[in-house]
Amino acid sequence: MNGFSNGFSPKLTRRHFGALLAGSAFTLAAPAILRADSGPRLVVIGGGFGGASAARFARISYPDVNVTLIEPYDSFVTCPYGNLILGGKRALPQITHSYDGLRARGVDVVQNRARDIDPVAKRVTLADDTRIAYDKLIVSPGIALRRDAIEGYDEAASEIFPHAWMGGDGSQISILRRQLEALPEGGVVGLAIPPNPFRCPPGPYERISMIAHHLKQHNPRAKILAFDAKDGFSKQGLFQDGWAELYGDMIEWIPASQDGTITAVDPQERVFISEFGERHKVDVGNVIPPQYAAAIARDTGLADDSGWVPVDPLTFAAEAAPDIHVIGDANIGSPMPKSGYVANSTSKQAVAAAIADLRGEAAPADPVYFNTCYSHLGDDYAVSVAAIFRKDGEGGIMATPDSGGLSPRGPLSELAYNRRREAEYADAWYDSITTDMFS
Ligand SMILES: Cc1cc2nc3c(=O)[nH]c(=O)nc-3n(C[C@H](O)[C@H](O)[C@H](O)COP(=O)(O)OP(=O)(O)OC[C@H]3O[C@@H](n4cnc5c(N)ncnc54)[C@H](O)[C@@H]3O)c2cc1C
Repeated sequence: MNGFSNGFSPKLTRRHFGALLAGSAFTLAAPAILRADSGPRLVVIGGGFGGASAARFARISYPDVNVTLIEPYDSFVTCPYGNLILGGKRALPQITHSYDGLRARGVDVVQNRARDIDPVAKRVTLADDTRIAYDKLIVSPGIALRRDAIEGYDEAASEIFPHAWMGGDGSQISILRRQLEALPEGGVVGLAIPPNPFRCPPGPYERISMIAHHLKQHNPRAKILAFDAKDGFSKQGLFQDGWAELYGDMIEWIPASQDGTITAVDPQERVFISEFGERHKVDVGNVIPPQYAAAIARDTGLADDSGWVPVDPLTFAAEAAPDIHVIGDANIGSPMPKSGYVANSTSKQAVAAAIADLRGEAAPADPVYFNTCYSHLGDDYAVSVAAIFRKDGEGGIMATPDSGGLSPRGPLSELAYNRRREAEYADAWYDSITTDMFS
């Protein structure tokens, strides 16, 4: 007896199924894989911040649950600390994590891509047509790039103008690093930065900082042009103070109201084209397009017209399919940012809610979700934004008043100790969260 009801009744209705089934490429003839002899089957799609955290937490907290993790790559390259590769402060192996720790905990890691979900039969179909049955499904596939939002930015273009906004096999961040190393003396680095909502609100600005950190040492006459589709950004005052202090006039930030929105690129000519038709020649171009949830969340009808997945903030059950819990960047988690920390923090509530539902119990009633986003601006120099999120009493989530906050602003001469400590906290955060995902 494992304490779970075998006859739990799914809450999904026919009406809910309709949208999902309409787009389903479910193949009846494909062989099903039955991995679990007994005990509930928790299947997780995506072995990143949300998925790896969920799989590990489930194995530790619910030993009688069979956990299967589906992930196409054989190891995980984190986006957090990817910018430090550009700054010469980290190397790719230092941000690459194996799934062996999860295997050692008994997670069945299936190296494959999920291509369809059948919410009625409760099965995931993989790219090779094998099928995996689940009782509860956690989906944390991250983002996809809206390539159609930037004319000319196809797959081939991202070899010339890398986005480096998804870990993948690490090749995108490596291309960008090599391009920076080869930048002509006094050359121009252009960044195209997307509108909200997107993965990691402070990420582009940490990237600008780390590129500047590299250039200051190796190419001090180079310029950075940061074209932004917004008029403001996360930790703006802190970043702009730090840029002025550390990098002088190397960085020019061009907001949307000054024609900063890049709508097309010509990679062969190495040109960014703005909303109002201005052509900007760059030597190195980092194009971060607008985003939406990864394909598996959109193609199966879990996402709404916004391209992101509406969920219950207490359980992370998808509105379209209550046995499918969608966590991480793919869901609509506002006001929580799309961050690795939020993906990790919410993964535990999603797993607890999923298992409680299988047991016929209520989800933990008063979840607390955490976020701290650290950003490195230079050597021994980091800043952060932190918040704690809880239920708001109306079925949503709110930032807890008087919790969290921003690093203080002020001259480096007064805040050097604080900035150095935050850089140390950032390193400790990275080590502890990746331990909480992969060990
Ligand atoms: C430059 C940069 C810096 C960042 N820095 C920070 C930071 O300092 N702190 C922070 O908290 N966050 C940071 N982030 C944000 C963080 O990376 C994301 O918020 C986090 O990765 C989201 O987790 P996720 O599980 O939703 O997606 P991911 O971590 O991207 O994981 C998704 C996984 O799903 C897999 N997948 C996709 N489709 C399928 C499929 N069909 N079948 C199976 N698997 C699939 C992918 O291969 C991937 O491994 C940063 C992001 C960037 C780009």
